[in-house]
Amino acid sequence: MTFVNTHSNALEITDVSHAYGKSKALDRINFKIKKGQFVVLLGPNGAGKTTLFSLITRLYSTQHGEISIHDYRLNEQPYEALNHLGVVFQQRCLDSDLTALQNLKYSAALYGLDKHEAILRAEQELKQVQMWDYRNHKIRTLSGGQARRIEIARALMTRPQLLILDEATVGLDINSRRHLLEHVRSLSEKSNTAVLWTTHLIDELNMSDYMIVLKQGQIIEQCLVHEFDNKDPQQSLEQQLHSLLA
Ligand code: ATP
Repeated sequence: MTFVNTHSNALEITDVSHAYGKSKALDRINFKIKKGQFVVLLGPNGAGKTTLFSLITRLYSTQHGEISIHDYRLNEQPYEALNHLGVVFQQRCLDSDLTALQNLKYSAALYGLDKHEAILRAEQELKQVQMWDYRNHKIRTLSGGQARRIEIARALMTRPQLLILDEATVGLDINSRRHLLEHVRSLSEKSNTAVLWTTHLIDELNMSDYMIVLKQGQIIEQCLVHEFDNKDPQQSLEQQLHSLLA
């Protein structure tokens, strides 16, 4: 039988649970991200965001349920699935003694891109995150926000269908946070890349975003932010989110 991929969803999480020993970190998680959609995964500390991230990136194997990226099942077709994934981890993963361009070329070599293609893509992606002028700067001389942009450029080198970022704004000041977030939103729009943006900060939500709220390992809300905001006209969005997460 031939399996035909329809590629309707960039990410599909079906009935996923995960436990550390006897302690349950995720409990029957279900959601989908469409092609090109920008989704915020919001949850307080300990909600299970990093655990979910680790399952999607296959750092942990899926104990229960199923994860598909671009309609490829992670357990059955890991190479094809991960080939469509770009990742920005919470901890910075760049070589600080190499330049921005060297970091991207190094990553491209690991993915098997030829040198000429690697340089073309590095130029394109560094320009897209407005870091081309910094291509010959060593990472350790860049600000936290600039280094994050380099990481995003690196994650986009393989032209993934899905970009996932685990608390990418940790350690950045408020302006850098805002710029980075605006940047990723516009990248998603321009390049039709689906994005899963995980955060515990409610001020990173936009009214037009789709949000998934995770608390103690369970999804307690998933809808457009403005729909959630309209639920109680007496309360601000912030107040409603605080009550939800309390
Ligand atoms: P944060 O915002 O603080 O990073 P999070 O939403 O990413 O939190 P996780 O790190 O996924 O949450 O943690 C979910 C639960 O699983 C927490 O109760 C945490 O203590 C537990 N946990 C996470 N990693 C491990 C581990 N390696 N071993 C045991 N328990 C773990």
